[in-house]
Amino acid sequence: MVSRLPITTRPAHQEIAVSYLARLAALHDLPADELWHQVSRPKAKGSPTRRLDGDLLATVANQPRARLERAVTELRTPEPDWLALRHEPQRGCWRCDARHPGGPVLHLLAHHHYVCTRHHVWIGPPDQEDHPQPDLDALPEIVTAQHRHRRLIRRFGPAATFDAVLTGFLICAHRWNFADLAFPGDAWIEWRRRAELLIPPGTEDDTFSTSRLFACTYPEAVALAELIGSLHWRRVVAHGPDGQRTFATEIGRRLGLRDYRPIVIKDAVAHWMEQDCWRPPSPPNTDYRSLRTFGGPTFRKPSQDSDTKRRDNALWFSRHRRGGDSMLHHRTLNPVVIRDWSTKMEVFDGALAQTANTTIRLRKPLTTKDLLALATTEWIRSDPISSTWLNTATEPVDWHRRTGPRPPTGGRPALPHERPRSRQTRTAYARRSANTTSKPGTGVVPTESVN
Ligand SMILES: [Zn+2]
Repeated sequence: MVSRLPITTRPAHQEIAVSYLARLAALHDLPADELWHQVSRPKAKGSPTRRLDGDLLATVANQPRARLERAVTELRTPEPDWLALRHEPQRGCWRCDARHPGGPVLHLLAHHHYVCTRHHVWIGPPDQEDHPQPDLDALPEIVTAQHRHRRLIRRFGPAATFDAVLTGFLICAHRWNFADLAFPGDAWIEWRRRAELLIPPGTEDDTFSTSRLFACTYPEAVALAELIGSLHWRRVVAHGPDGQRTFATEIGRRLGLRDYRPIVIKDAVAHWMEQDCWRPPSPPNTDYRSLRTFGGPTFRKPSQDSDTKRRDNALWFSRHRRGGDSMLHHRTLNPVVIRDWSTKMEVFDGALAQTANTTIRLRKPLTTKDLLALATTEWIRSDPISSTWLNTATEPVDWHRRTGPRPPTGGRPALPHERPRSRQTRTAYARRSANTTSKPGTGVVPTESVN
């Protein structure tokens, strides 16, 4: 027997059930467990596992079932394209959510949802739940990028757009991290300018978040995605040297780089042209519907030490004001760092380095002279590449469906002795990285990843 709650409140758009129930419980000063038992049933007869029941929730919350099916993620009817949605719930725009009482609202947003264009608020990828969302009144190009991003969804579909925007971020992150010589008009200068507004120097401990670094590079990531997501441009790149040079010129224009040419190492654009352009867009690693917590009383939460990591990254960022390292290590980029066809690397940093590198073969170990020579060697593929997928694909491209589990491509976190951790070593690492890089579109790559 269930009873209606006296205080009624609507669910927010795309709110997860656990969030809605927590707000209802808070409004009625009820234990969350008690409310959960009222709106759930055993998964099977005699099973201790309980799952949300839409009819019970409609009765208890005193809401029309149809309204719940439009708003509550777990009850949506018909079911959405789960791969087009993030698997991790997050806060939406704080101004939009201010009208929903009872506590924080957690939404399951689409992969392309980064900005509230109504209130000019940065939402970003799932990061830290309680970190303040910056407003974008002084950065209108980030709001414009959200409109351009939505147009990409209409042109290319969610699968190609998901891969293309993440790849755009990956390219920007590599370049931001290590490029040292900026030209007039260079996007790198813009990223620093935006970072000064979003994470003012001296306030990093309070204002830093990796999500804000994604905001700094968002306009260029979307601009690059307009090429990367397009079957036309993928075919141009796969066809031969002329197409590759045309593509490189267009990439350079979008990053503000004069006479940009892909380089054989330390260049994420060259890596994409060699390894990825002729293969299907990479899908998300998982989706919310596939998680064991779906329809249950809990959901997957960020790790407990996320604020410690944030402060560690803030300290690192305050020293050099380069955002690439934090972005590249953020879970958001994982689907394009380790793709299904990536060479298995034992540690994540090895997989990461690989994404800015082509498969040139060299004697080992590389000397400084080798690296300097490679840092100015143009990458070009002289023969067209044959790809059945690229020859037959049509837009919008469908999600690449895996027939089995994701291949174990490795990528465990580095152990303390495998990664520079101390302040002195990290500073030395940054100095070395900065000193060895002087070409556009570059990122320092540990020599072991050059094969
Ligand atoms: Zn809003």
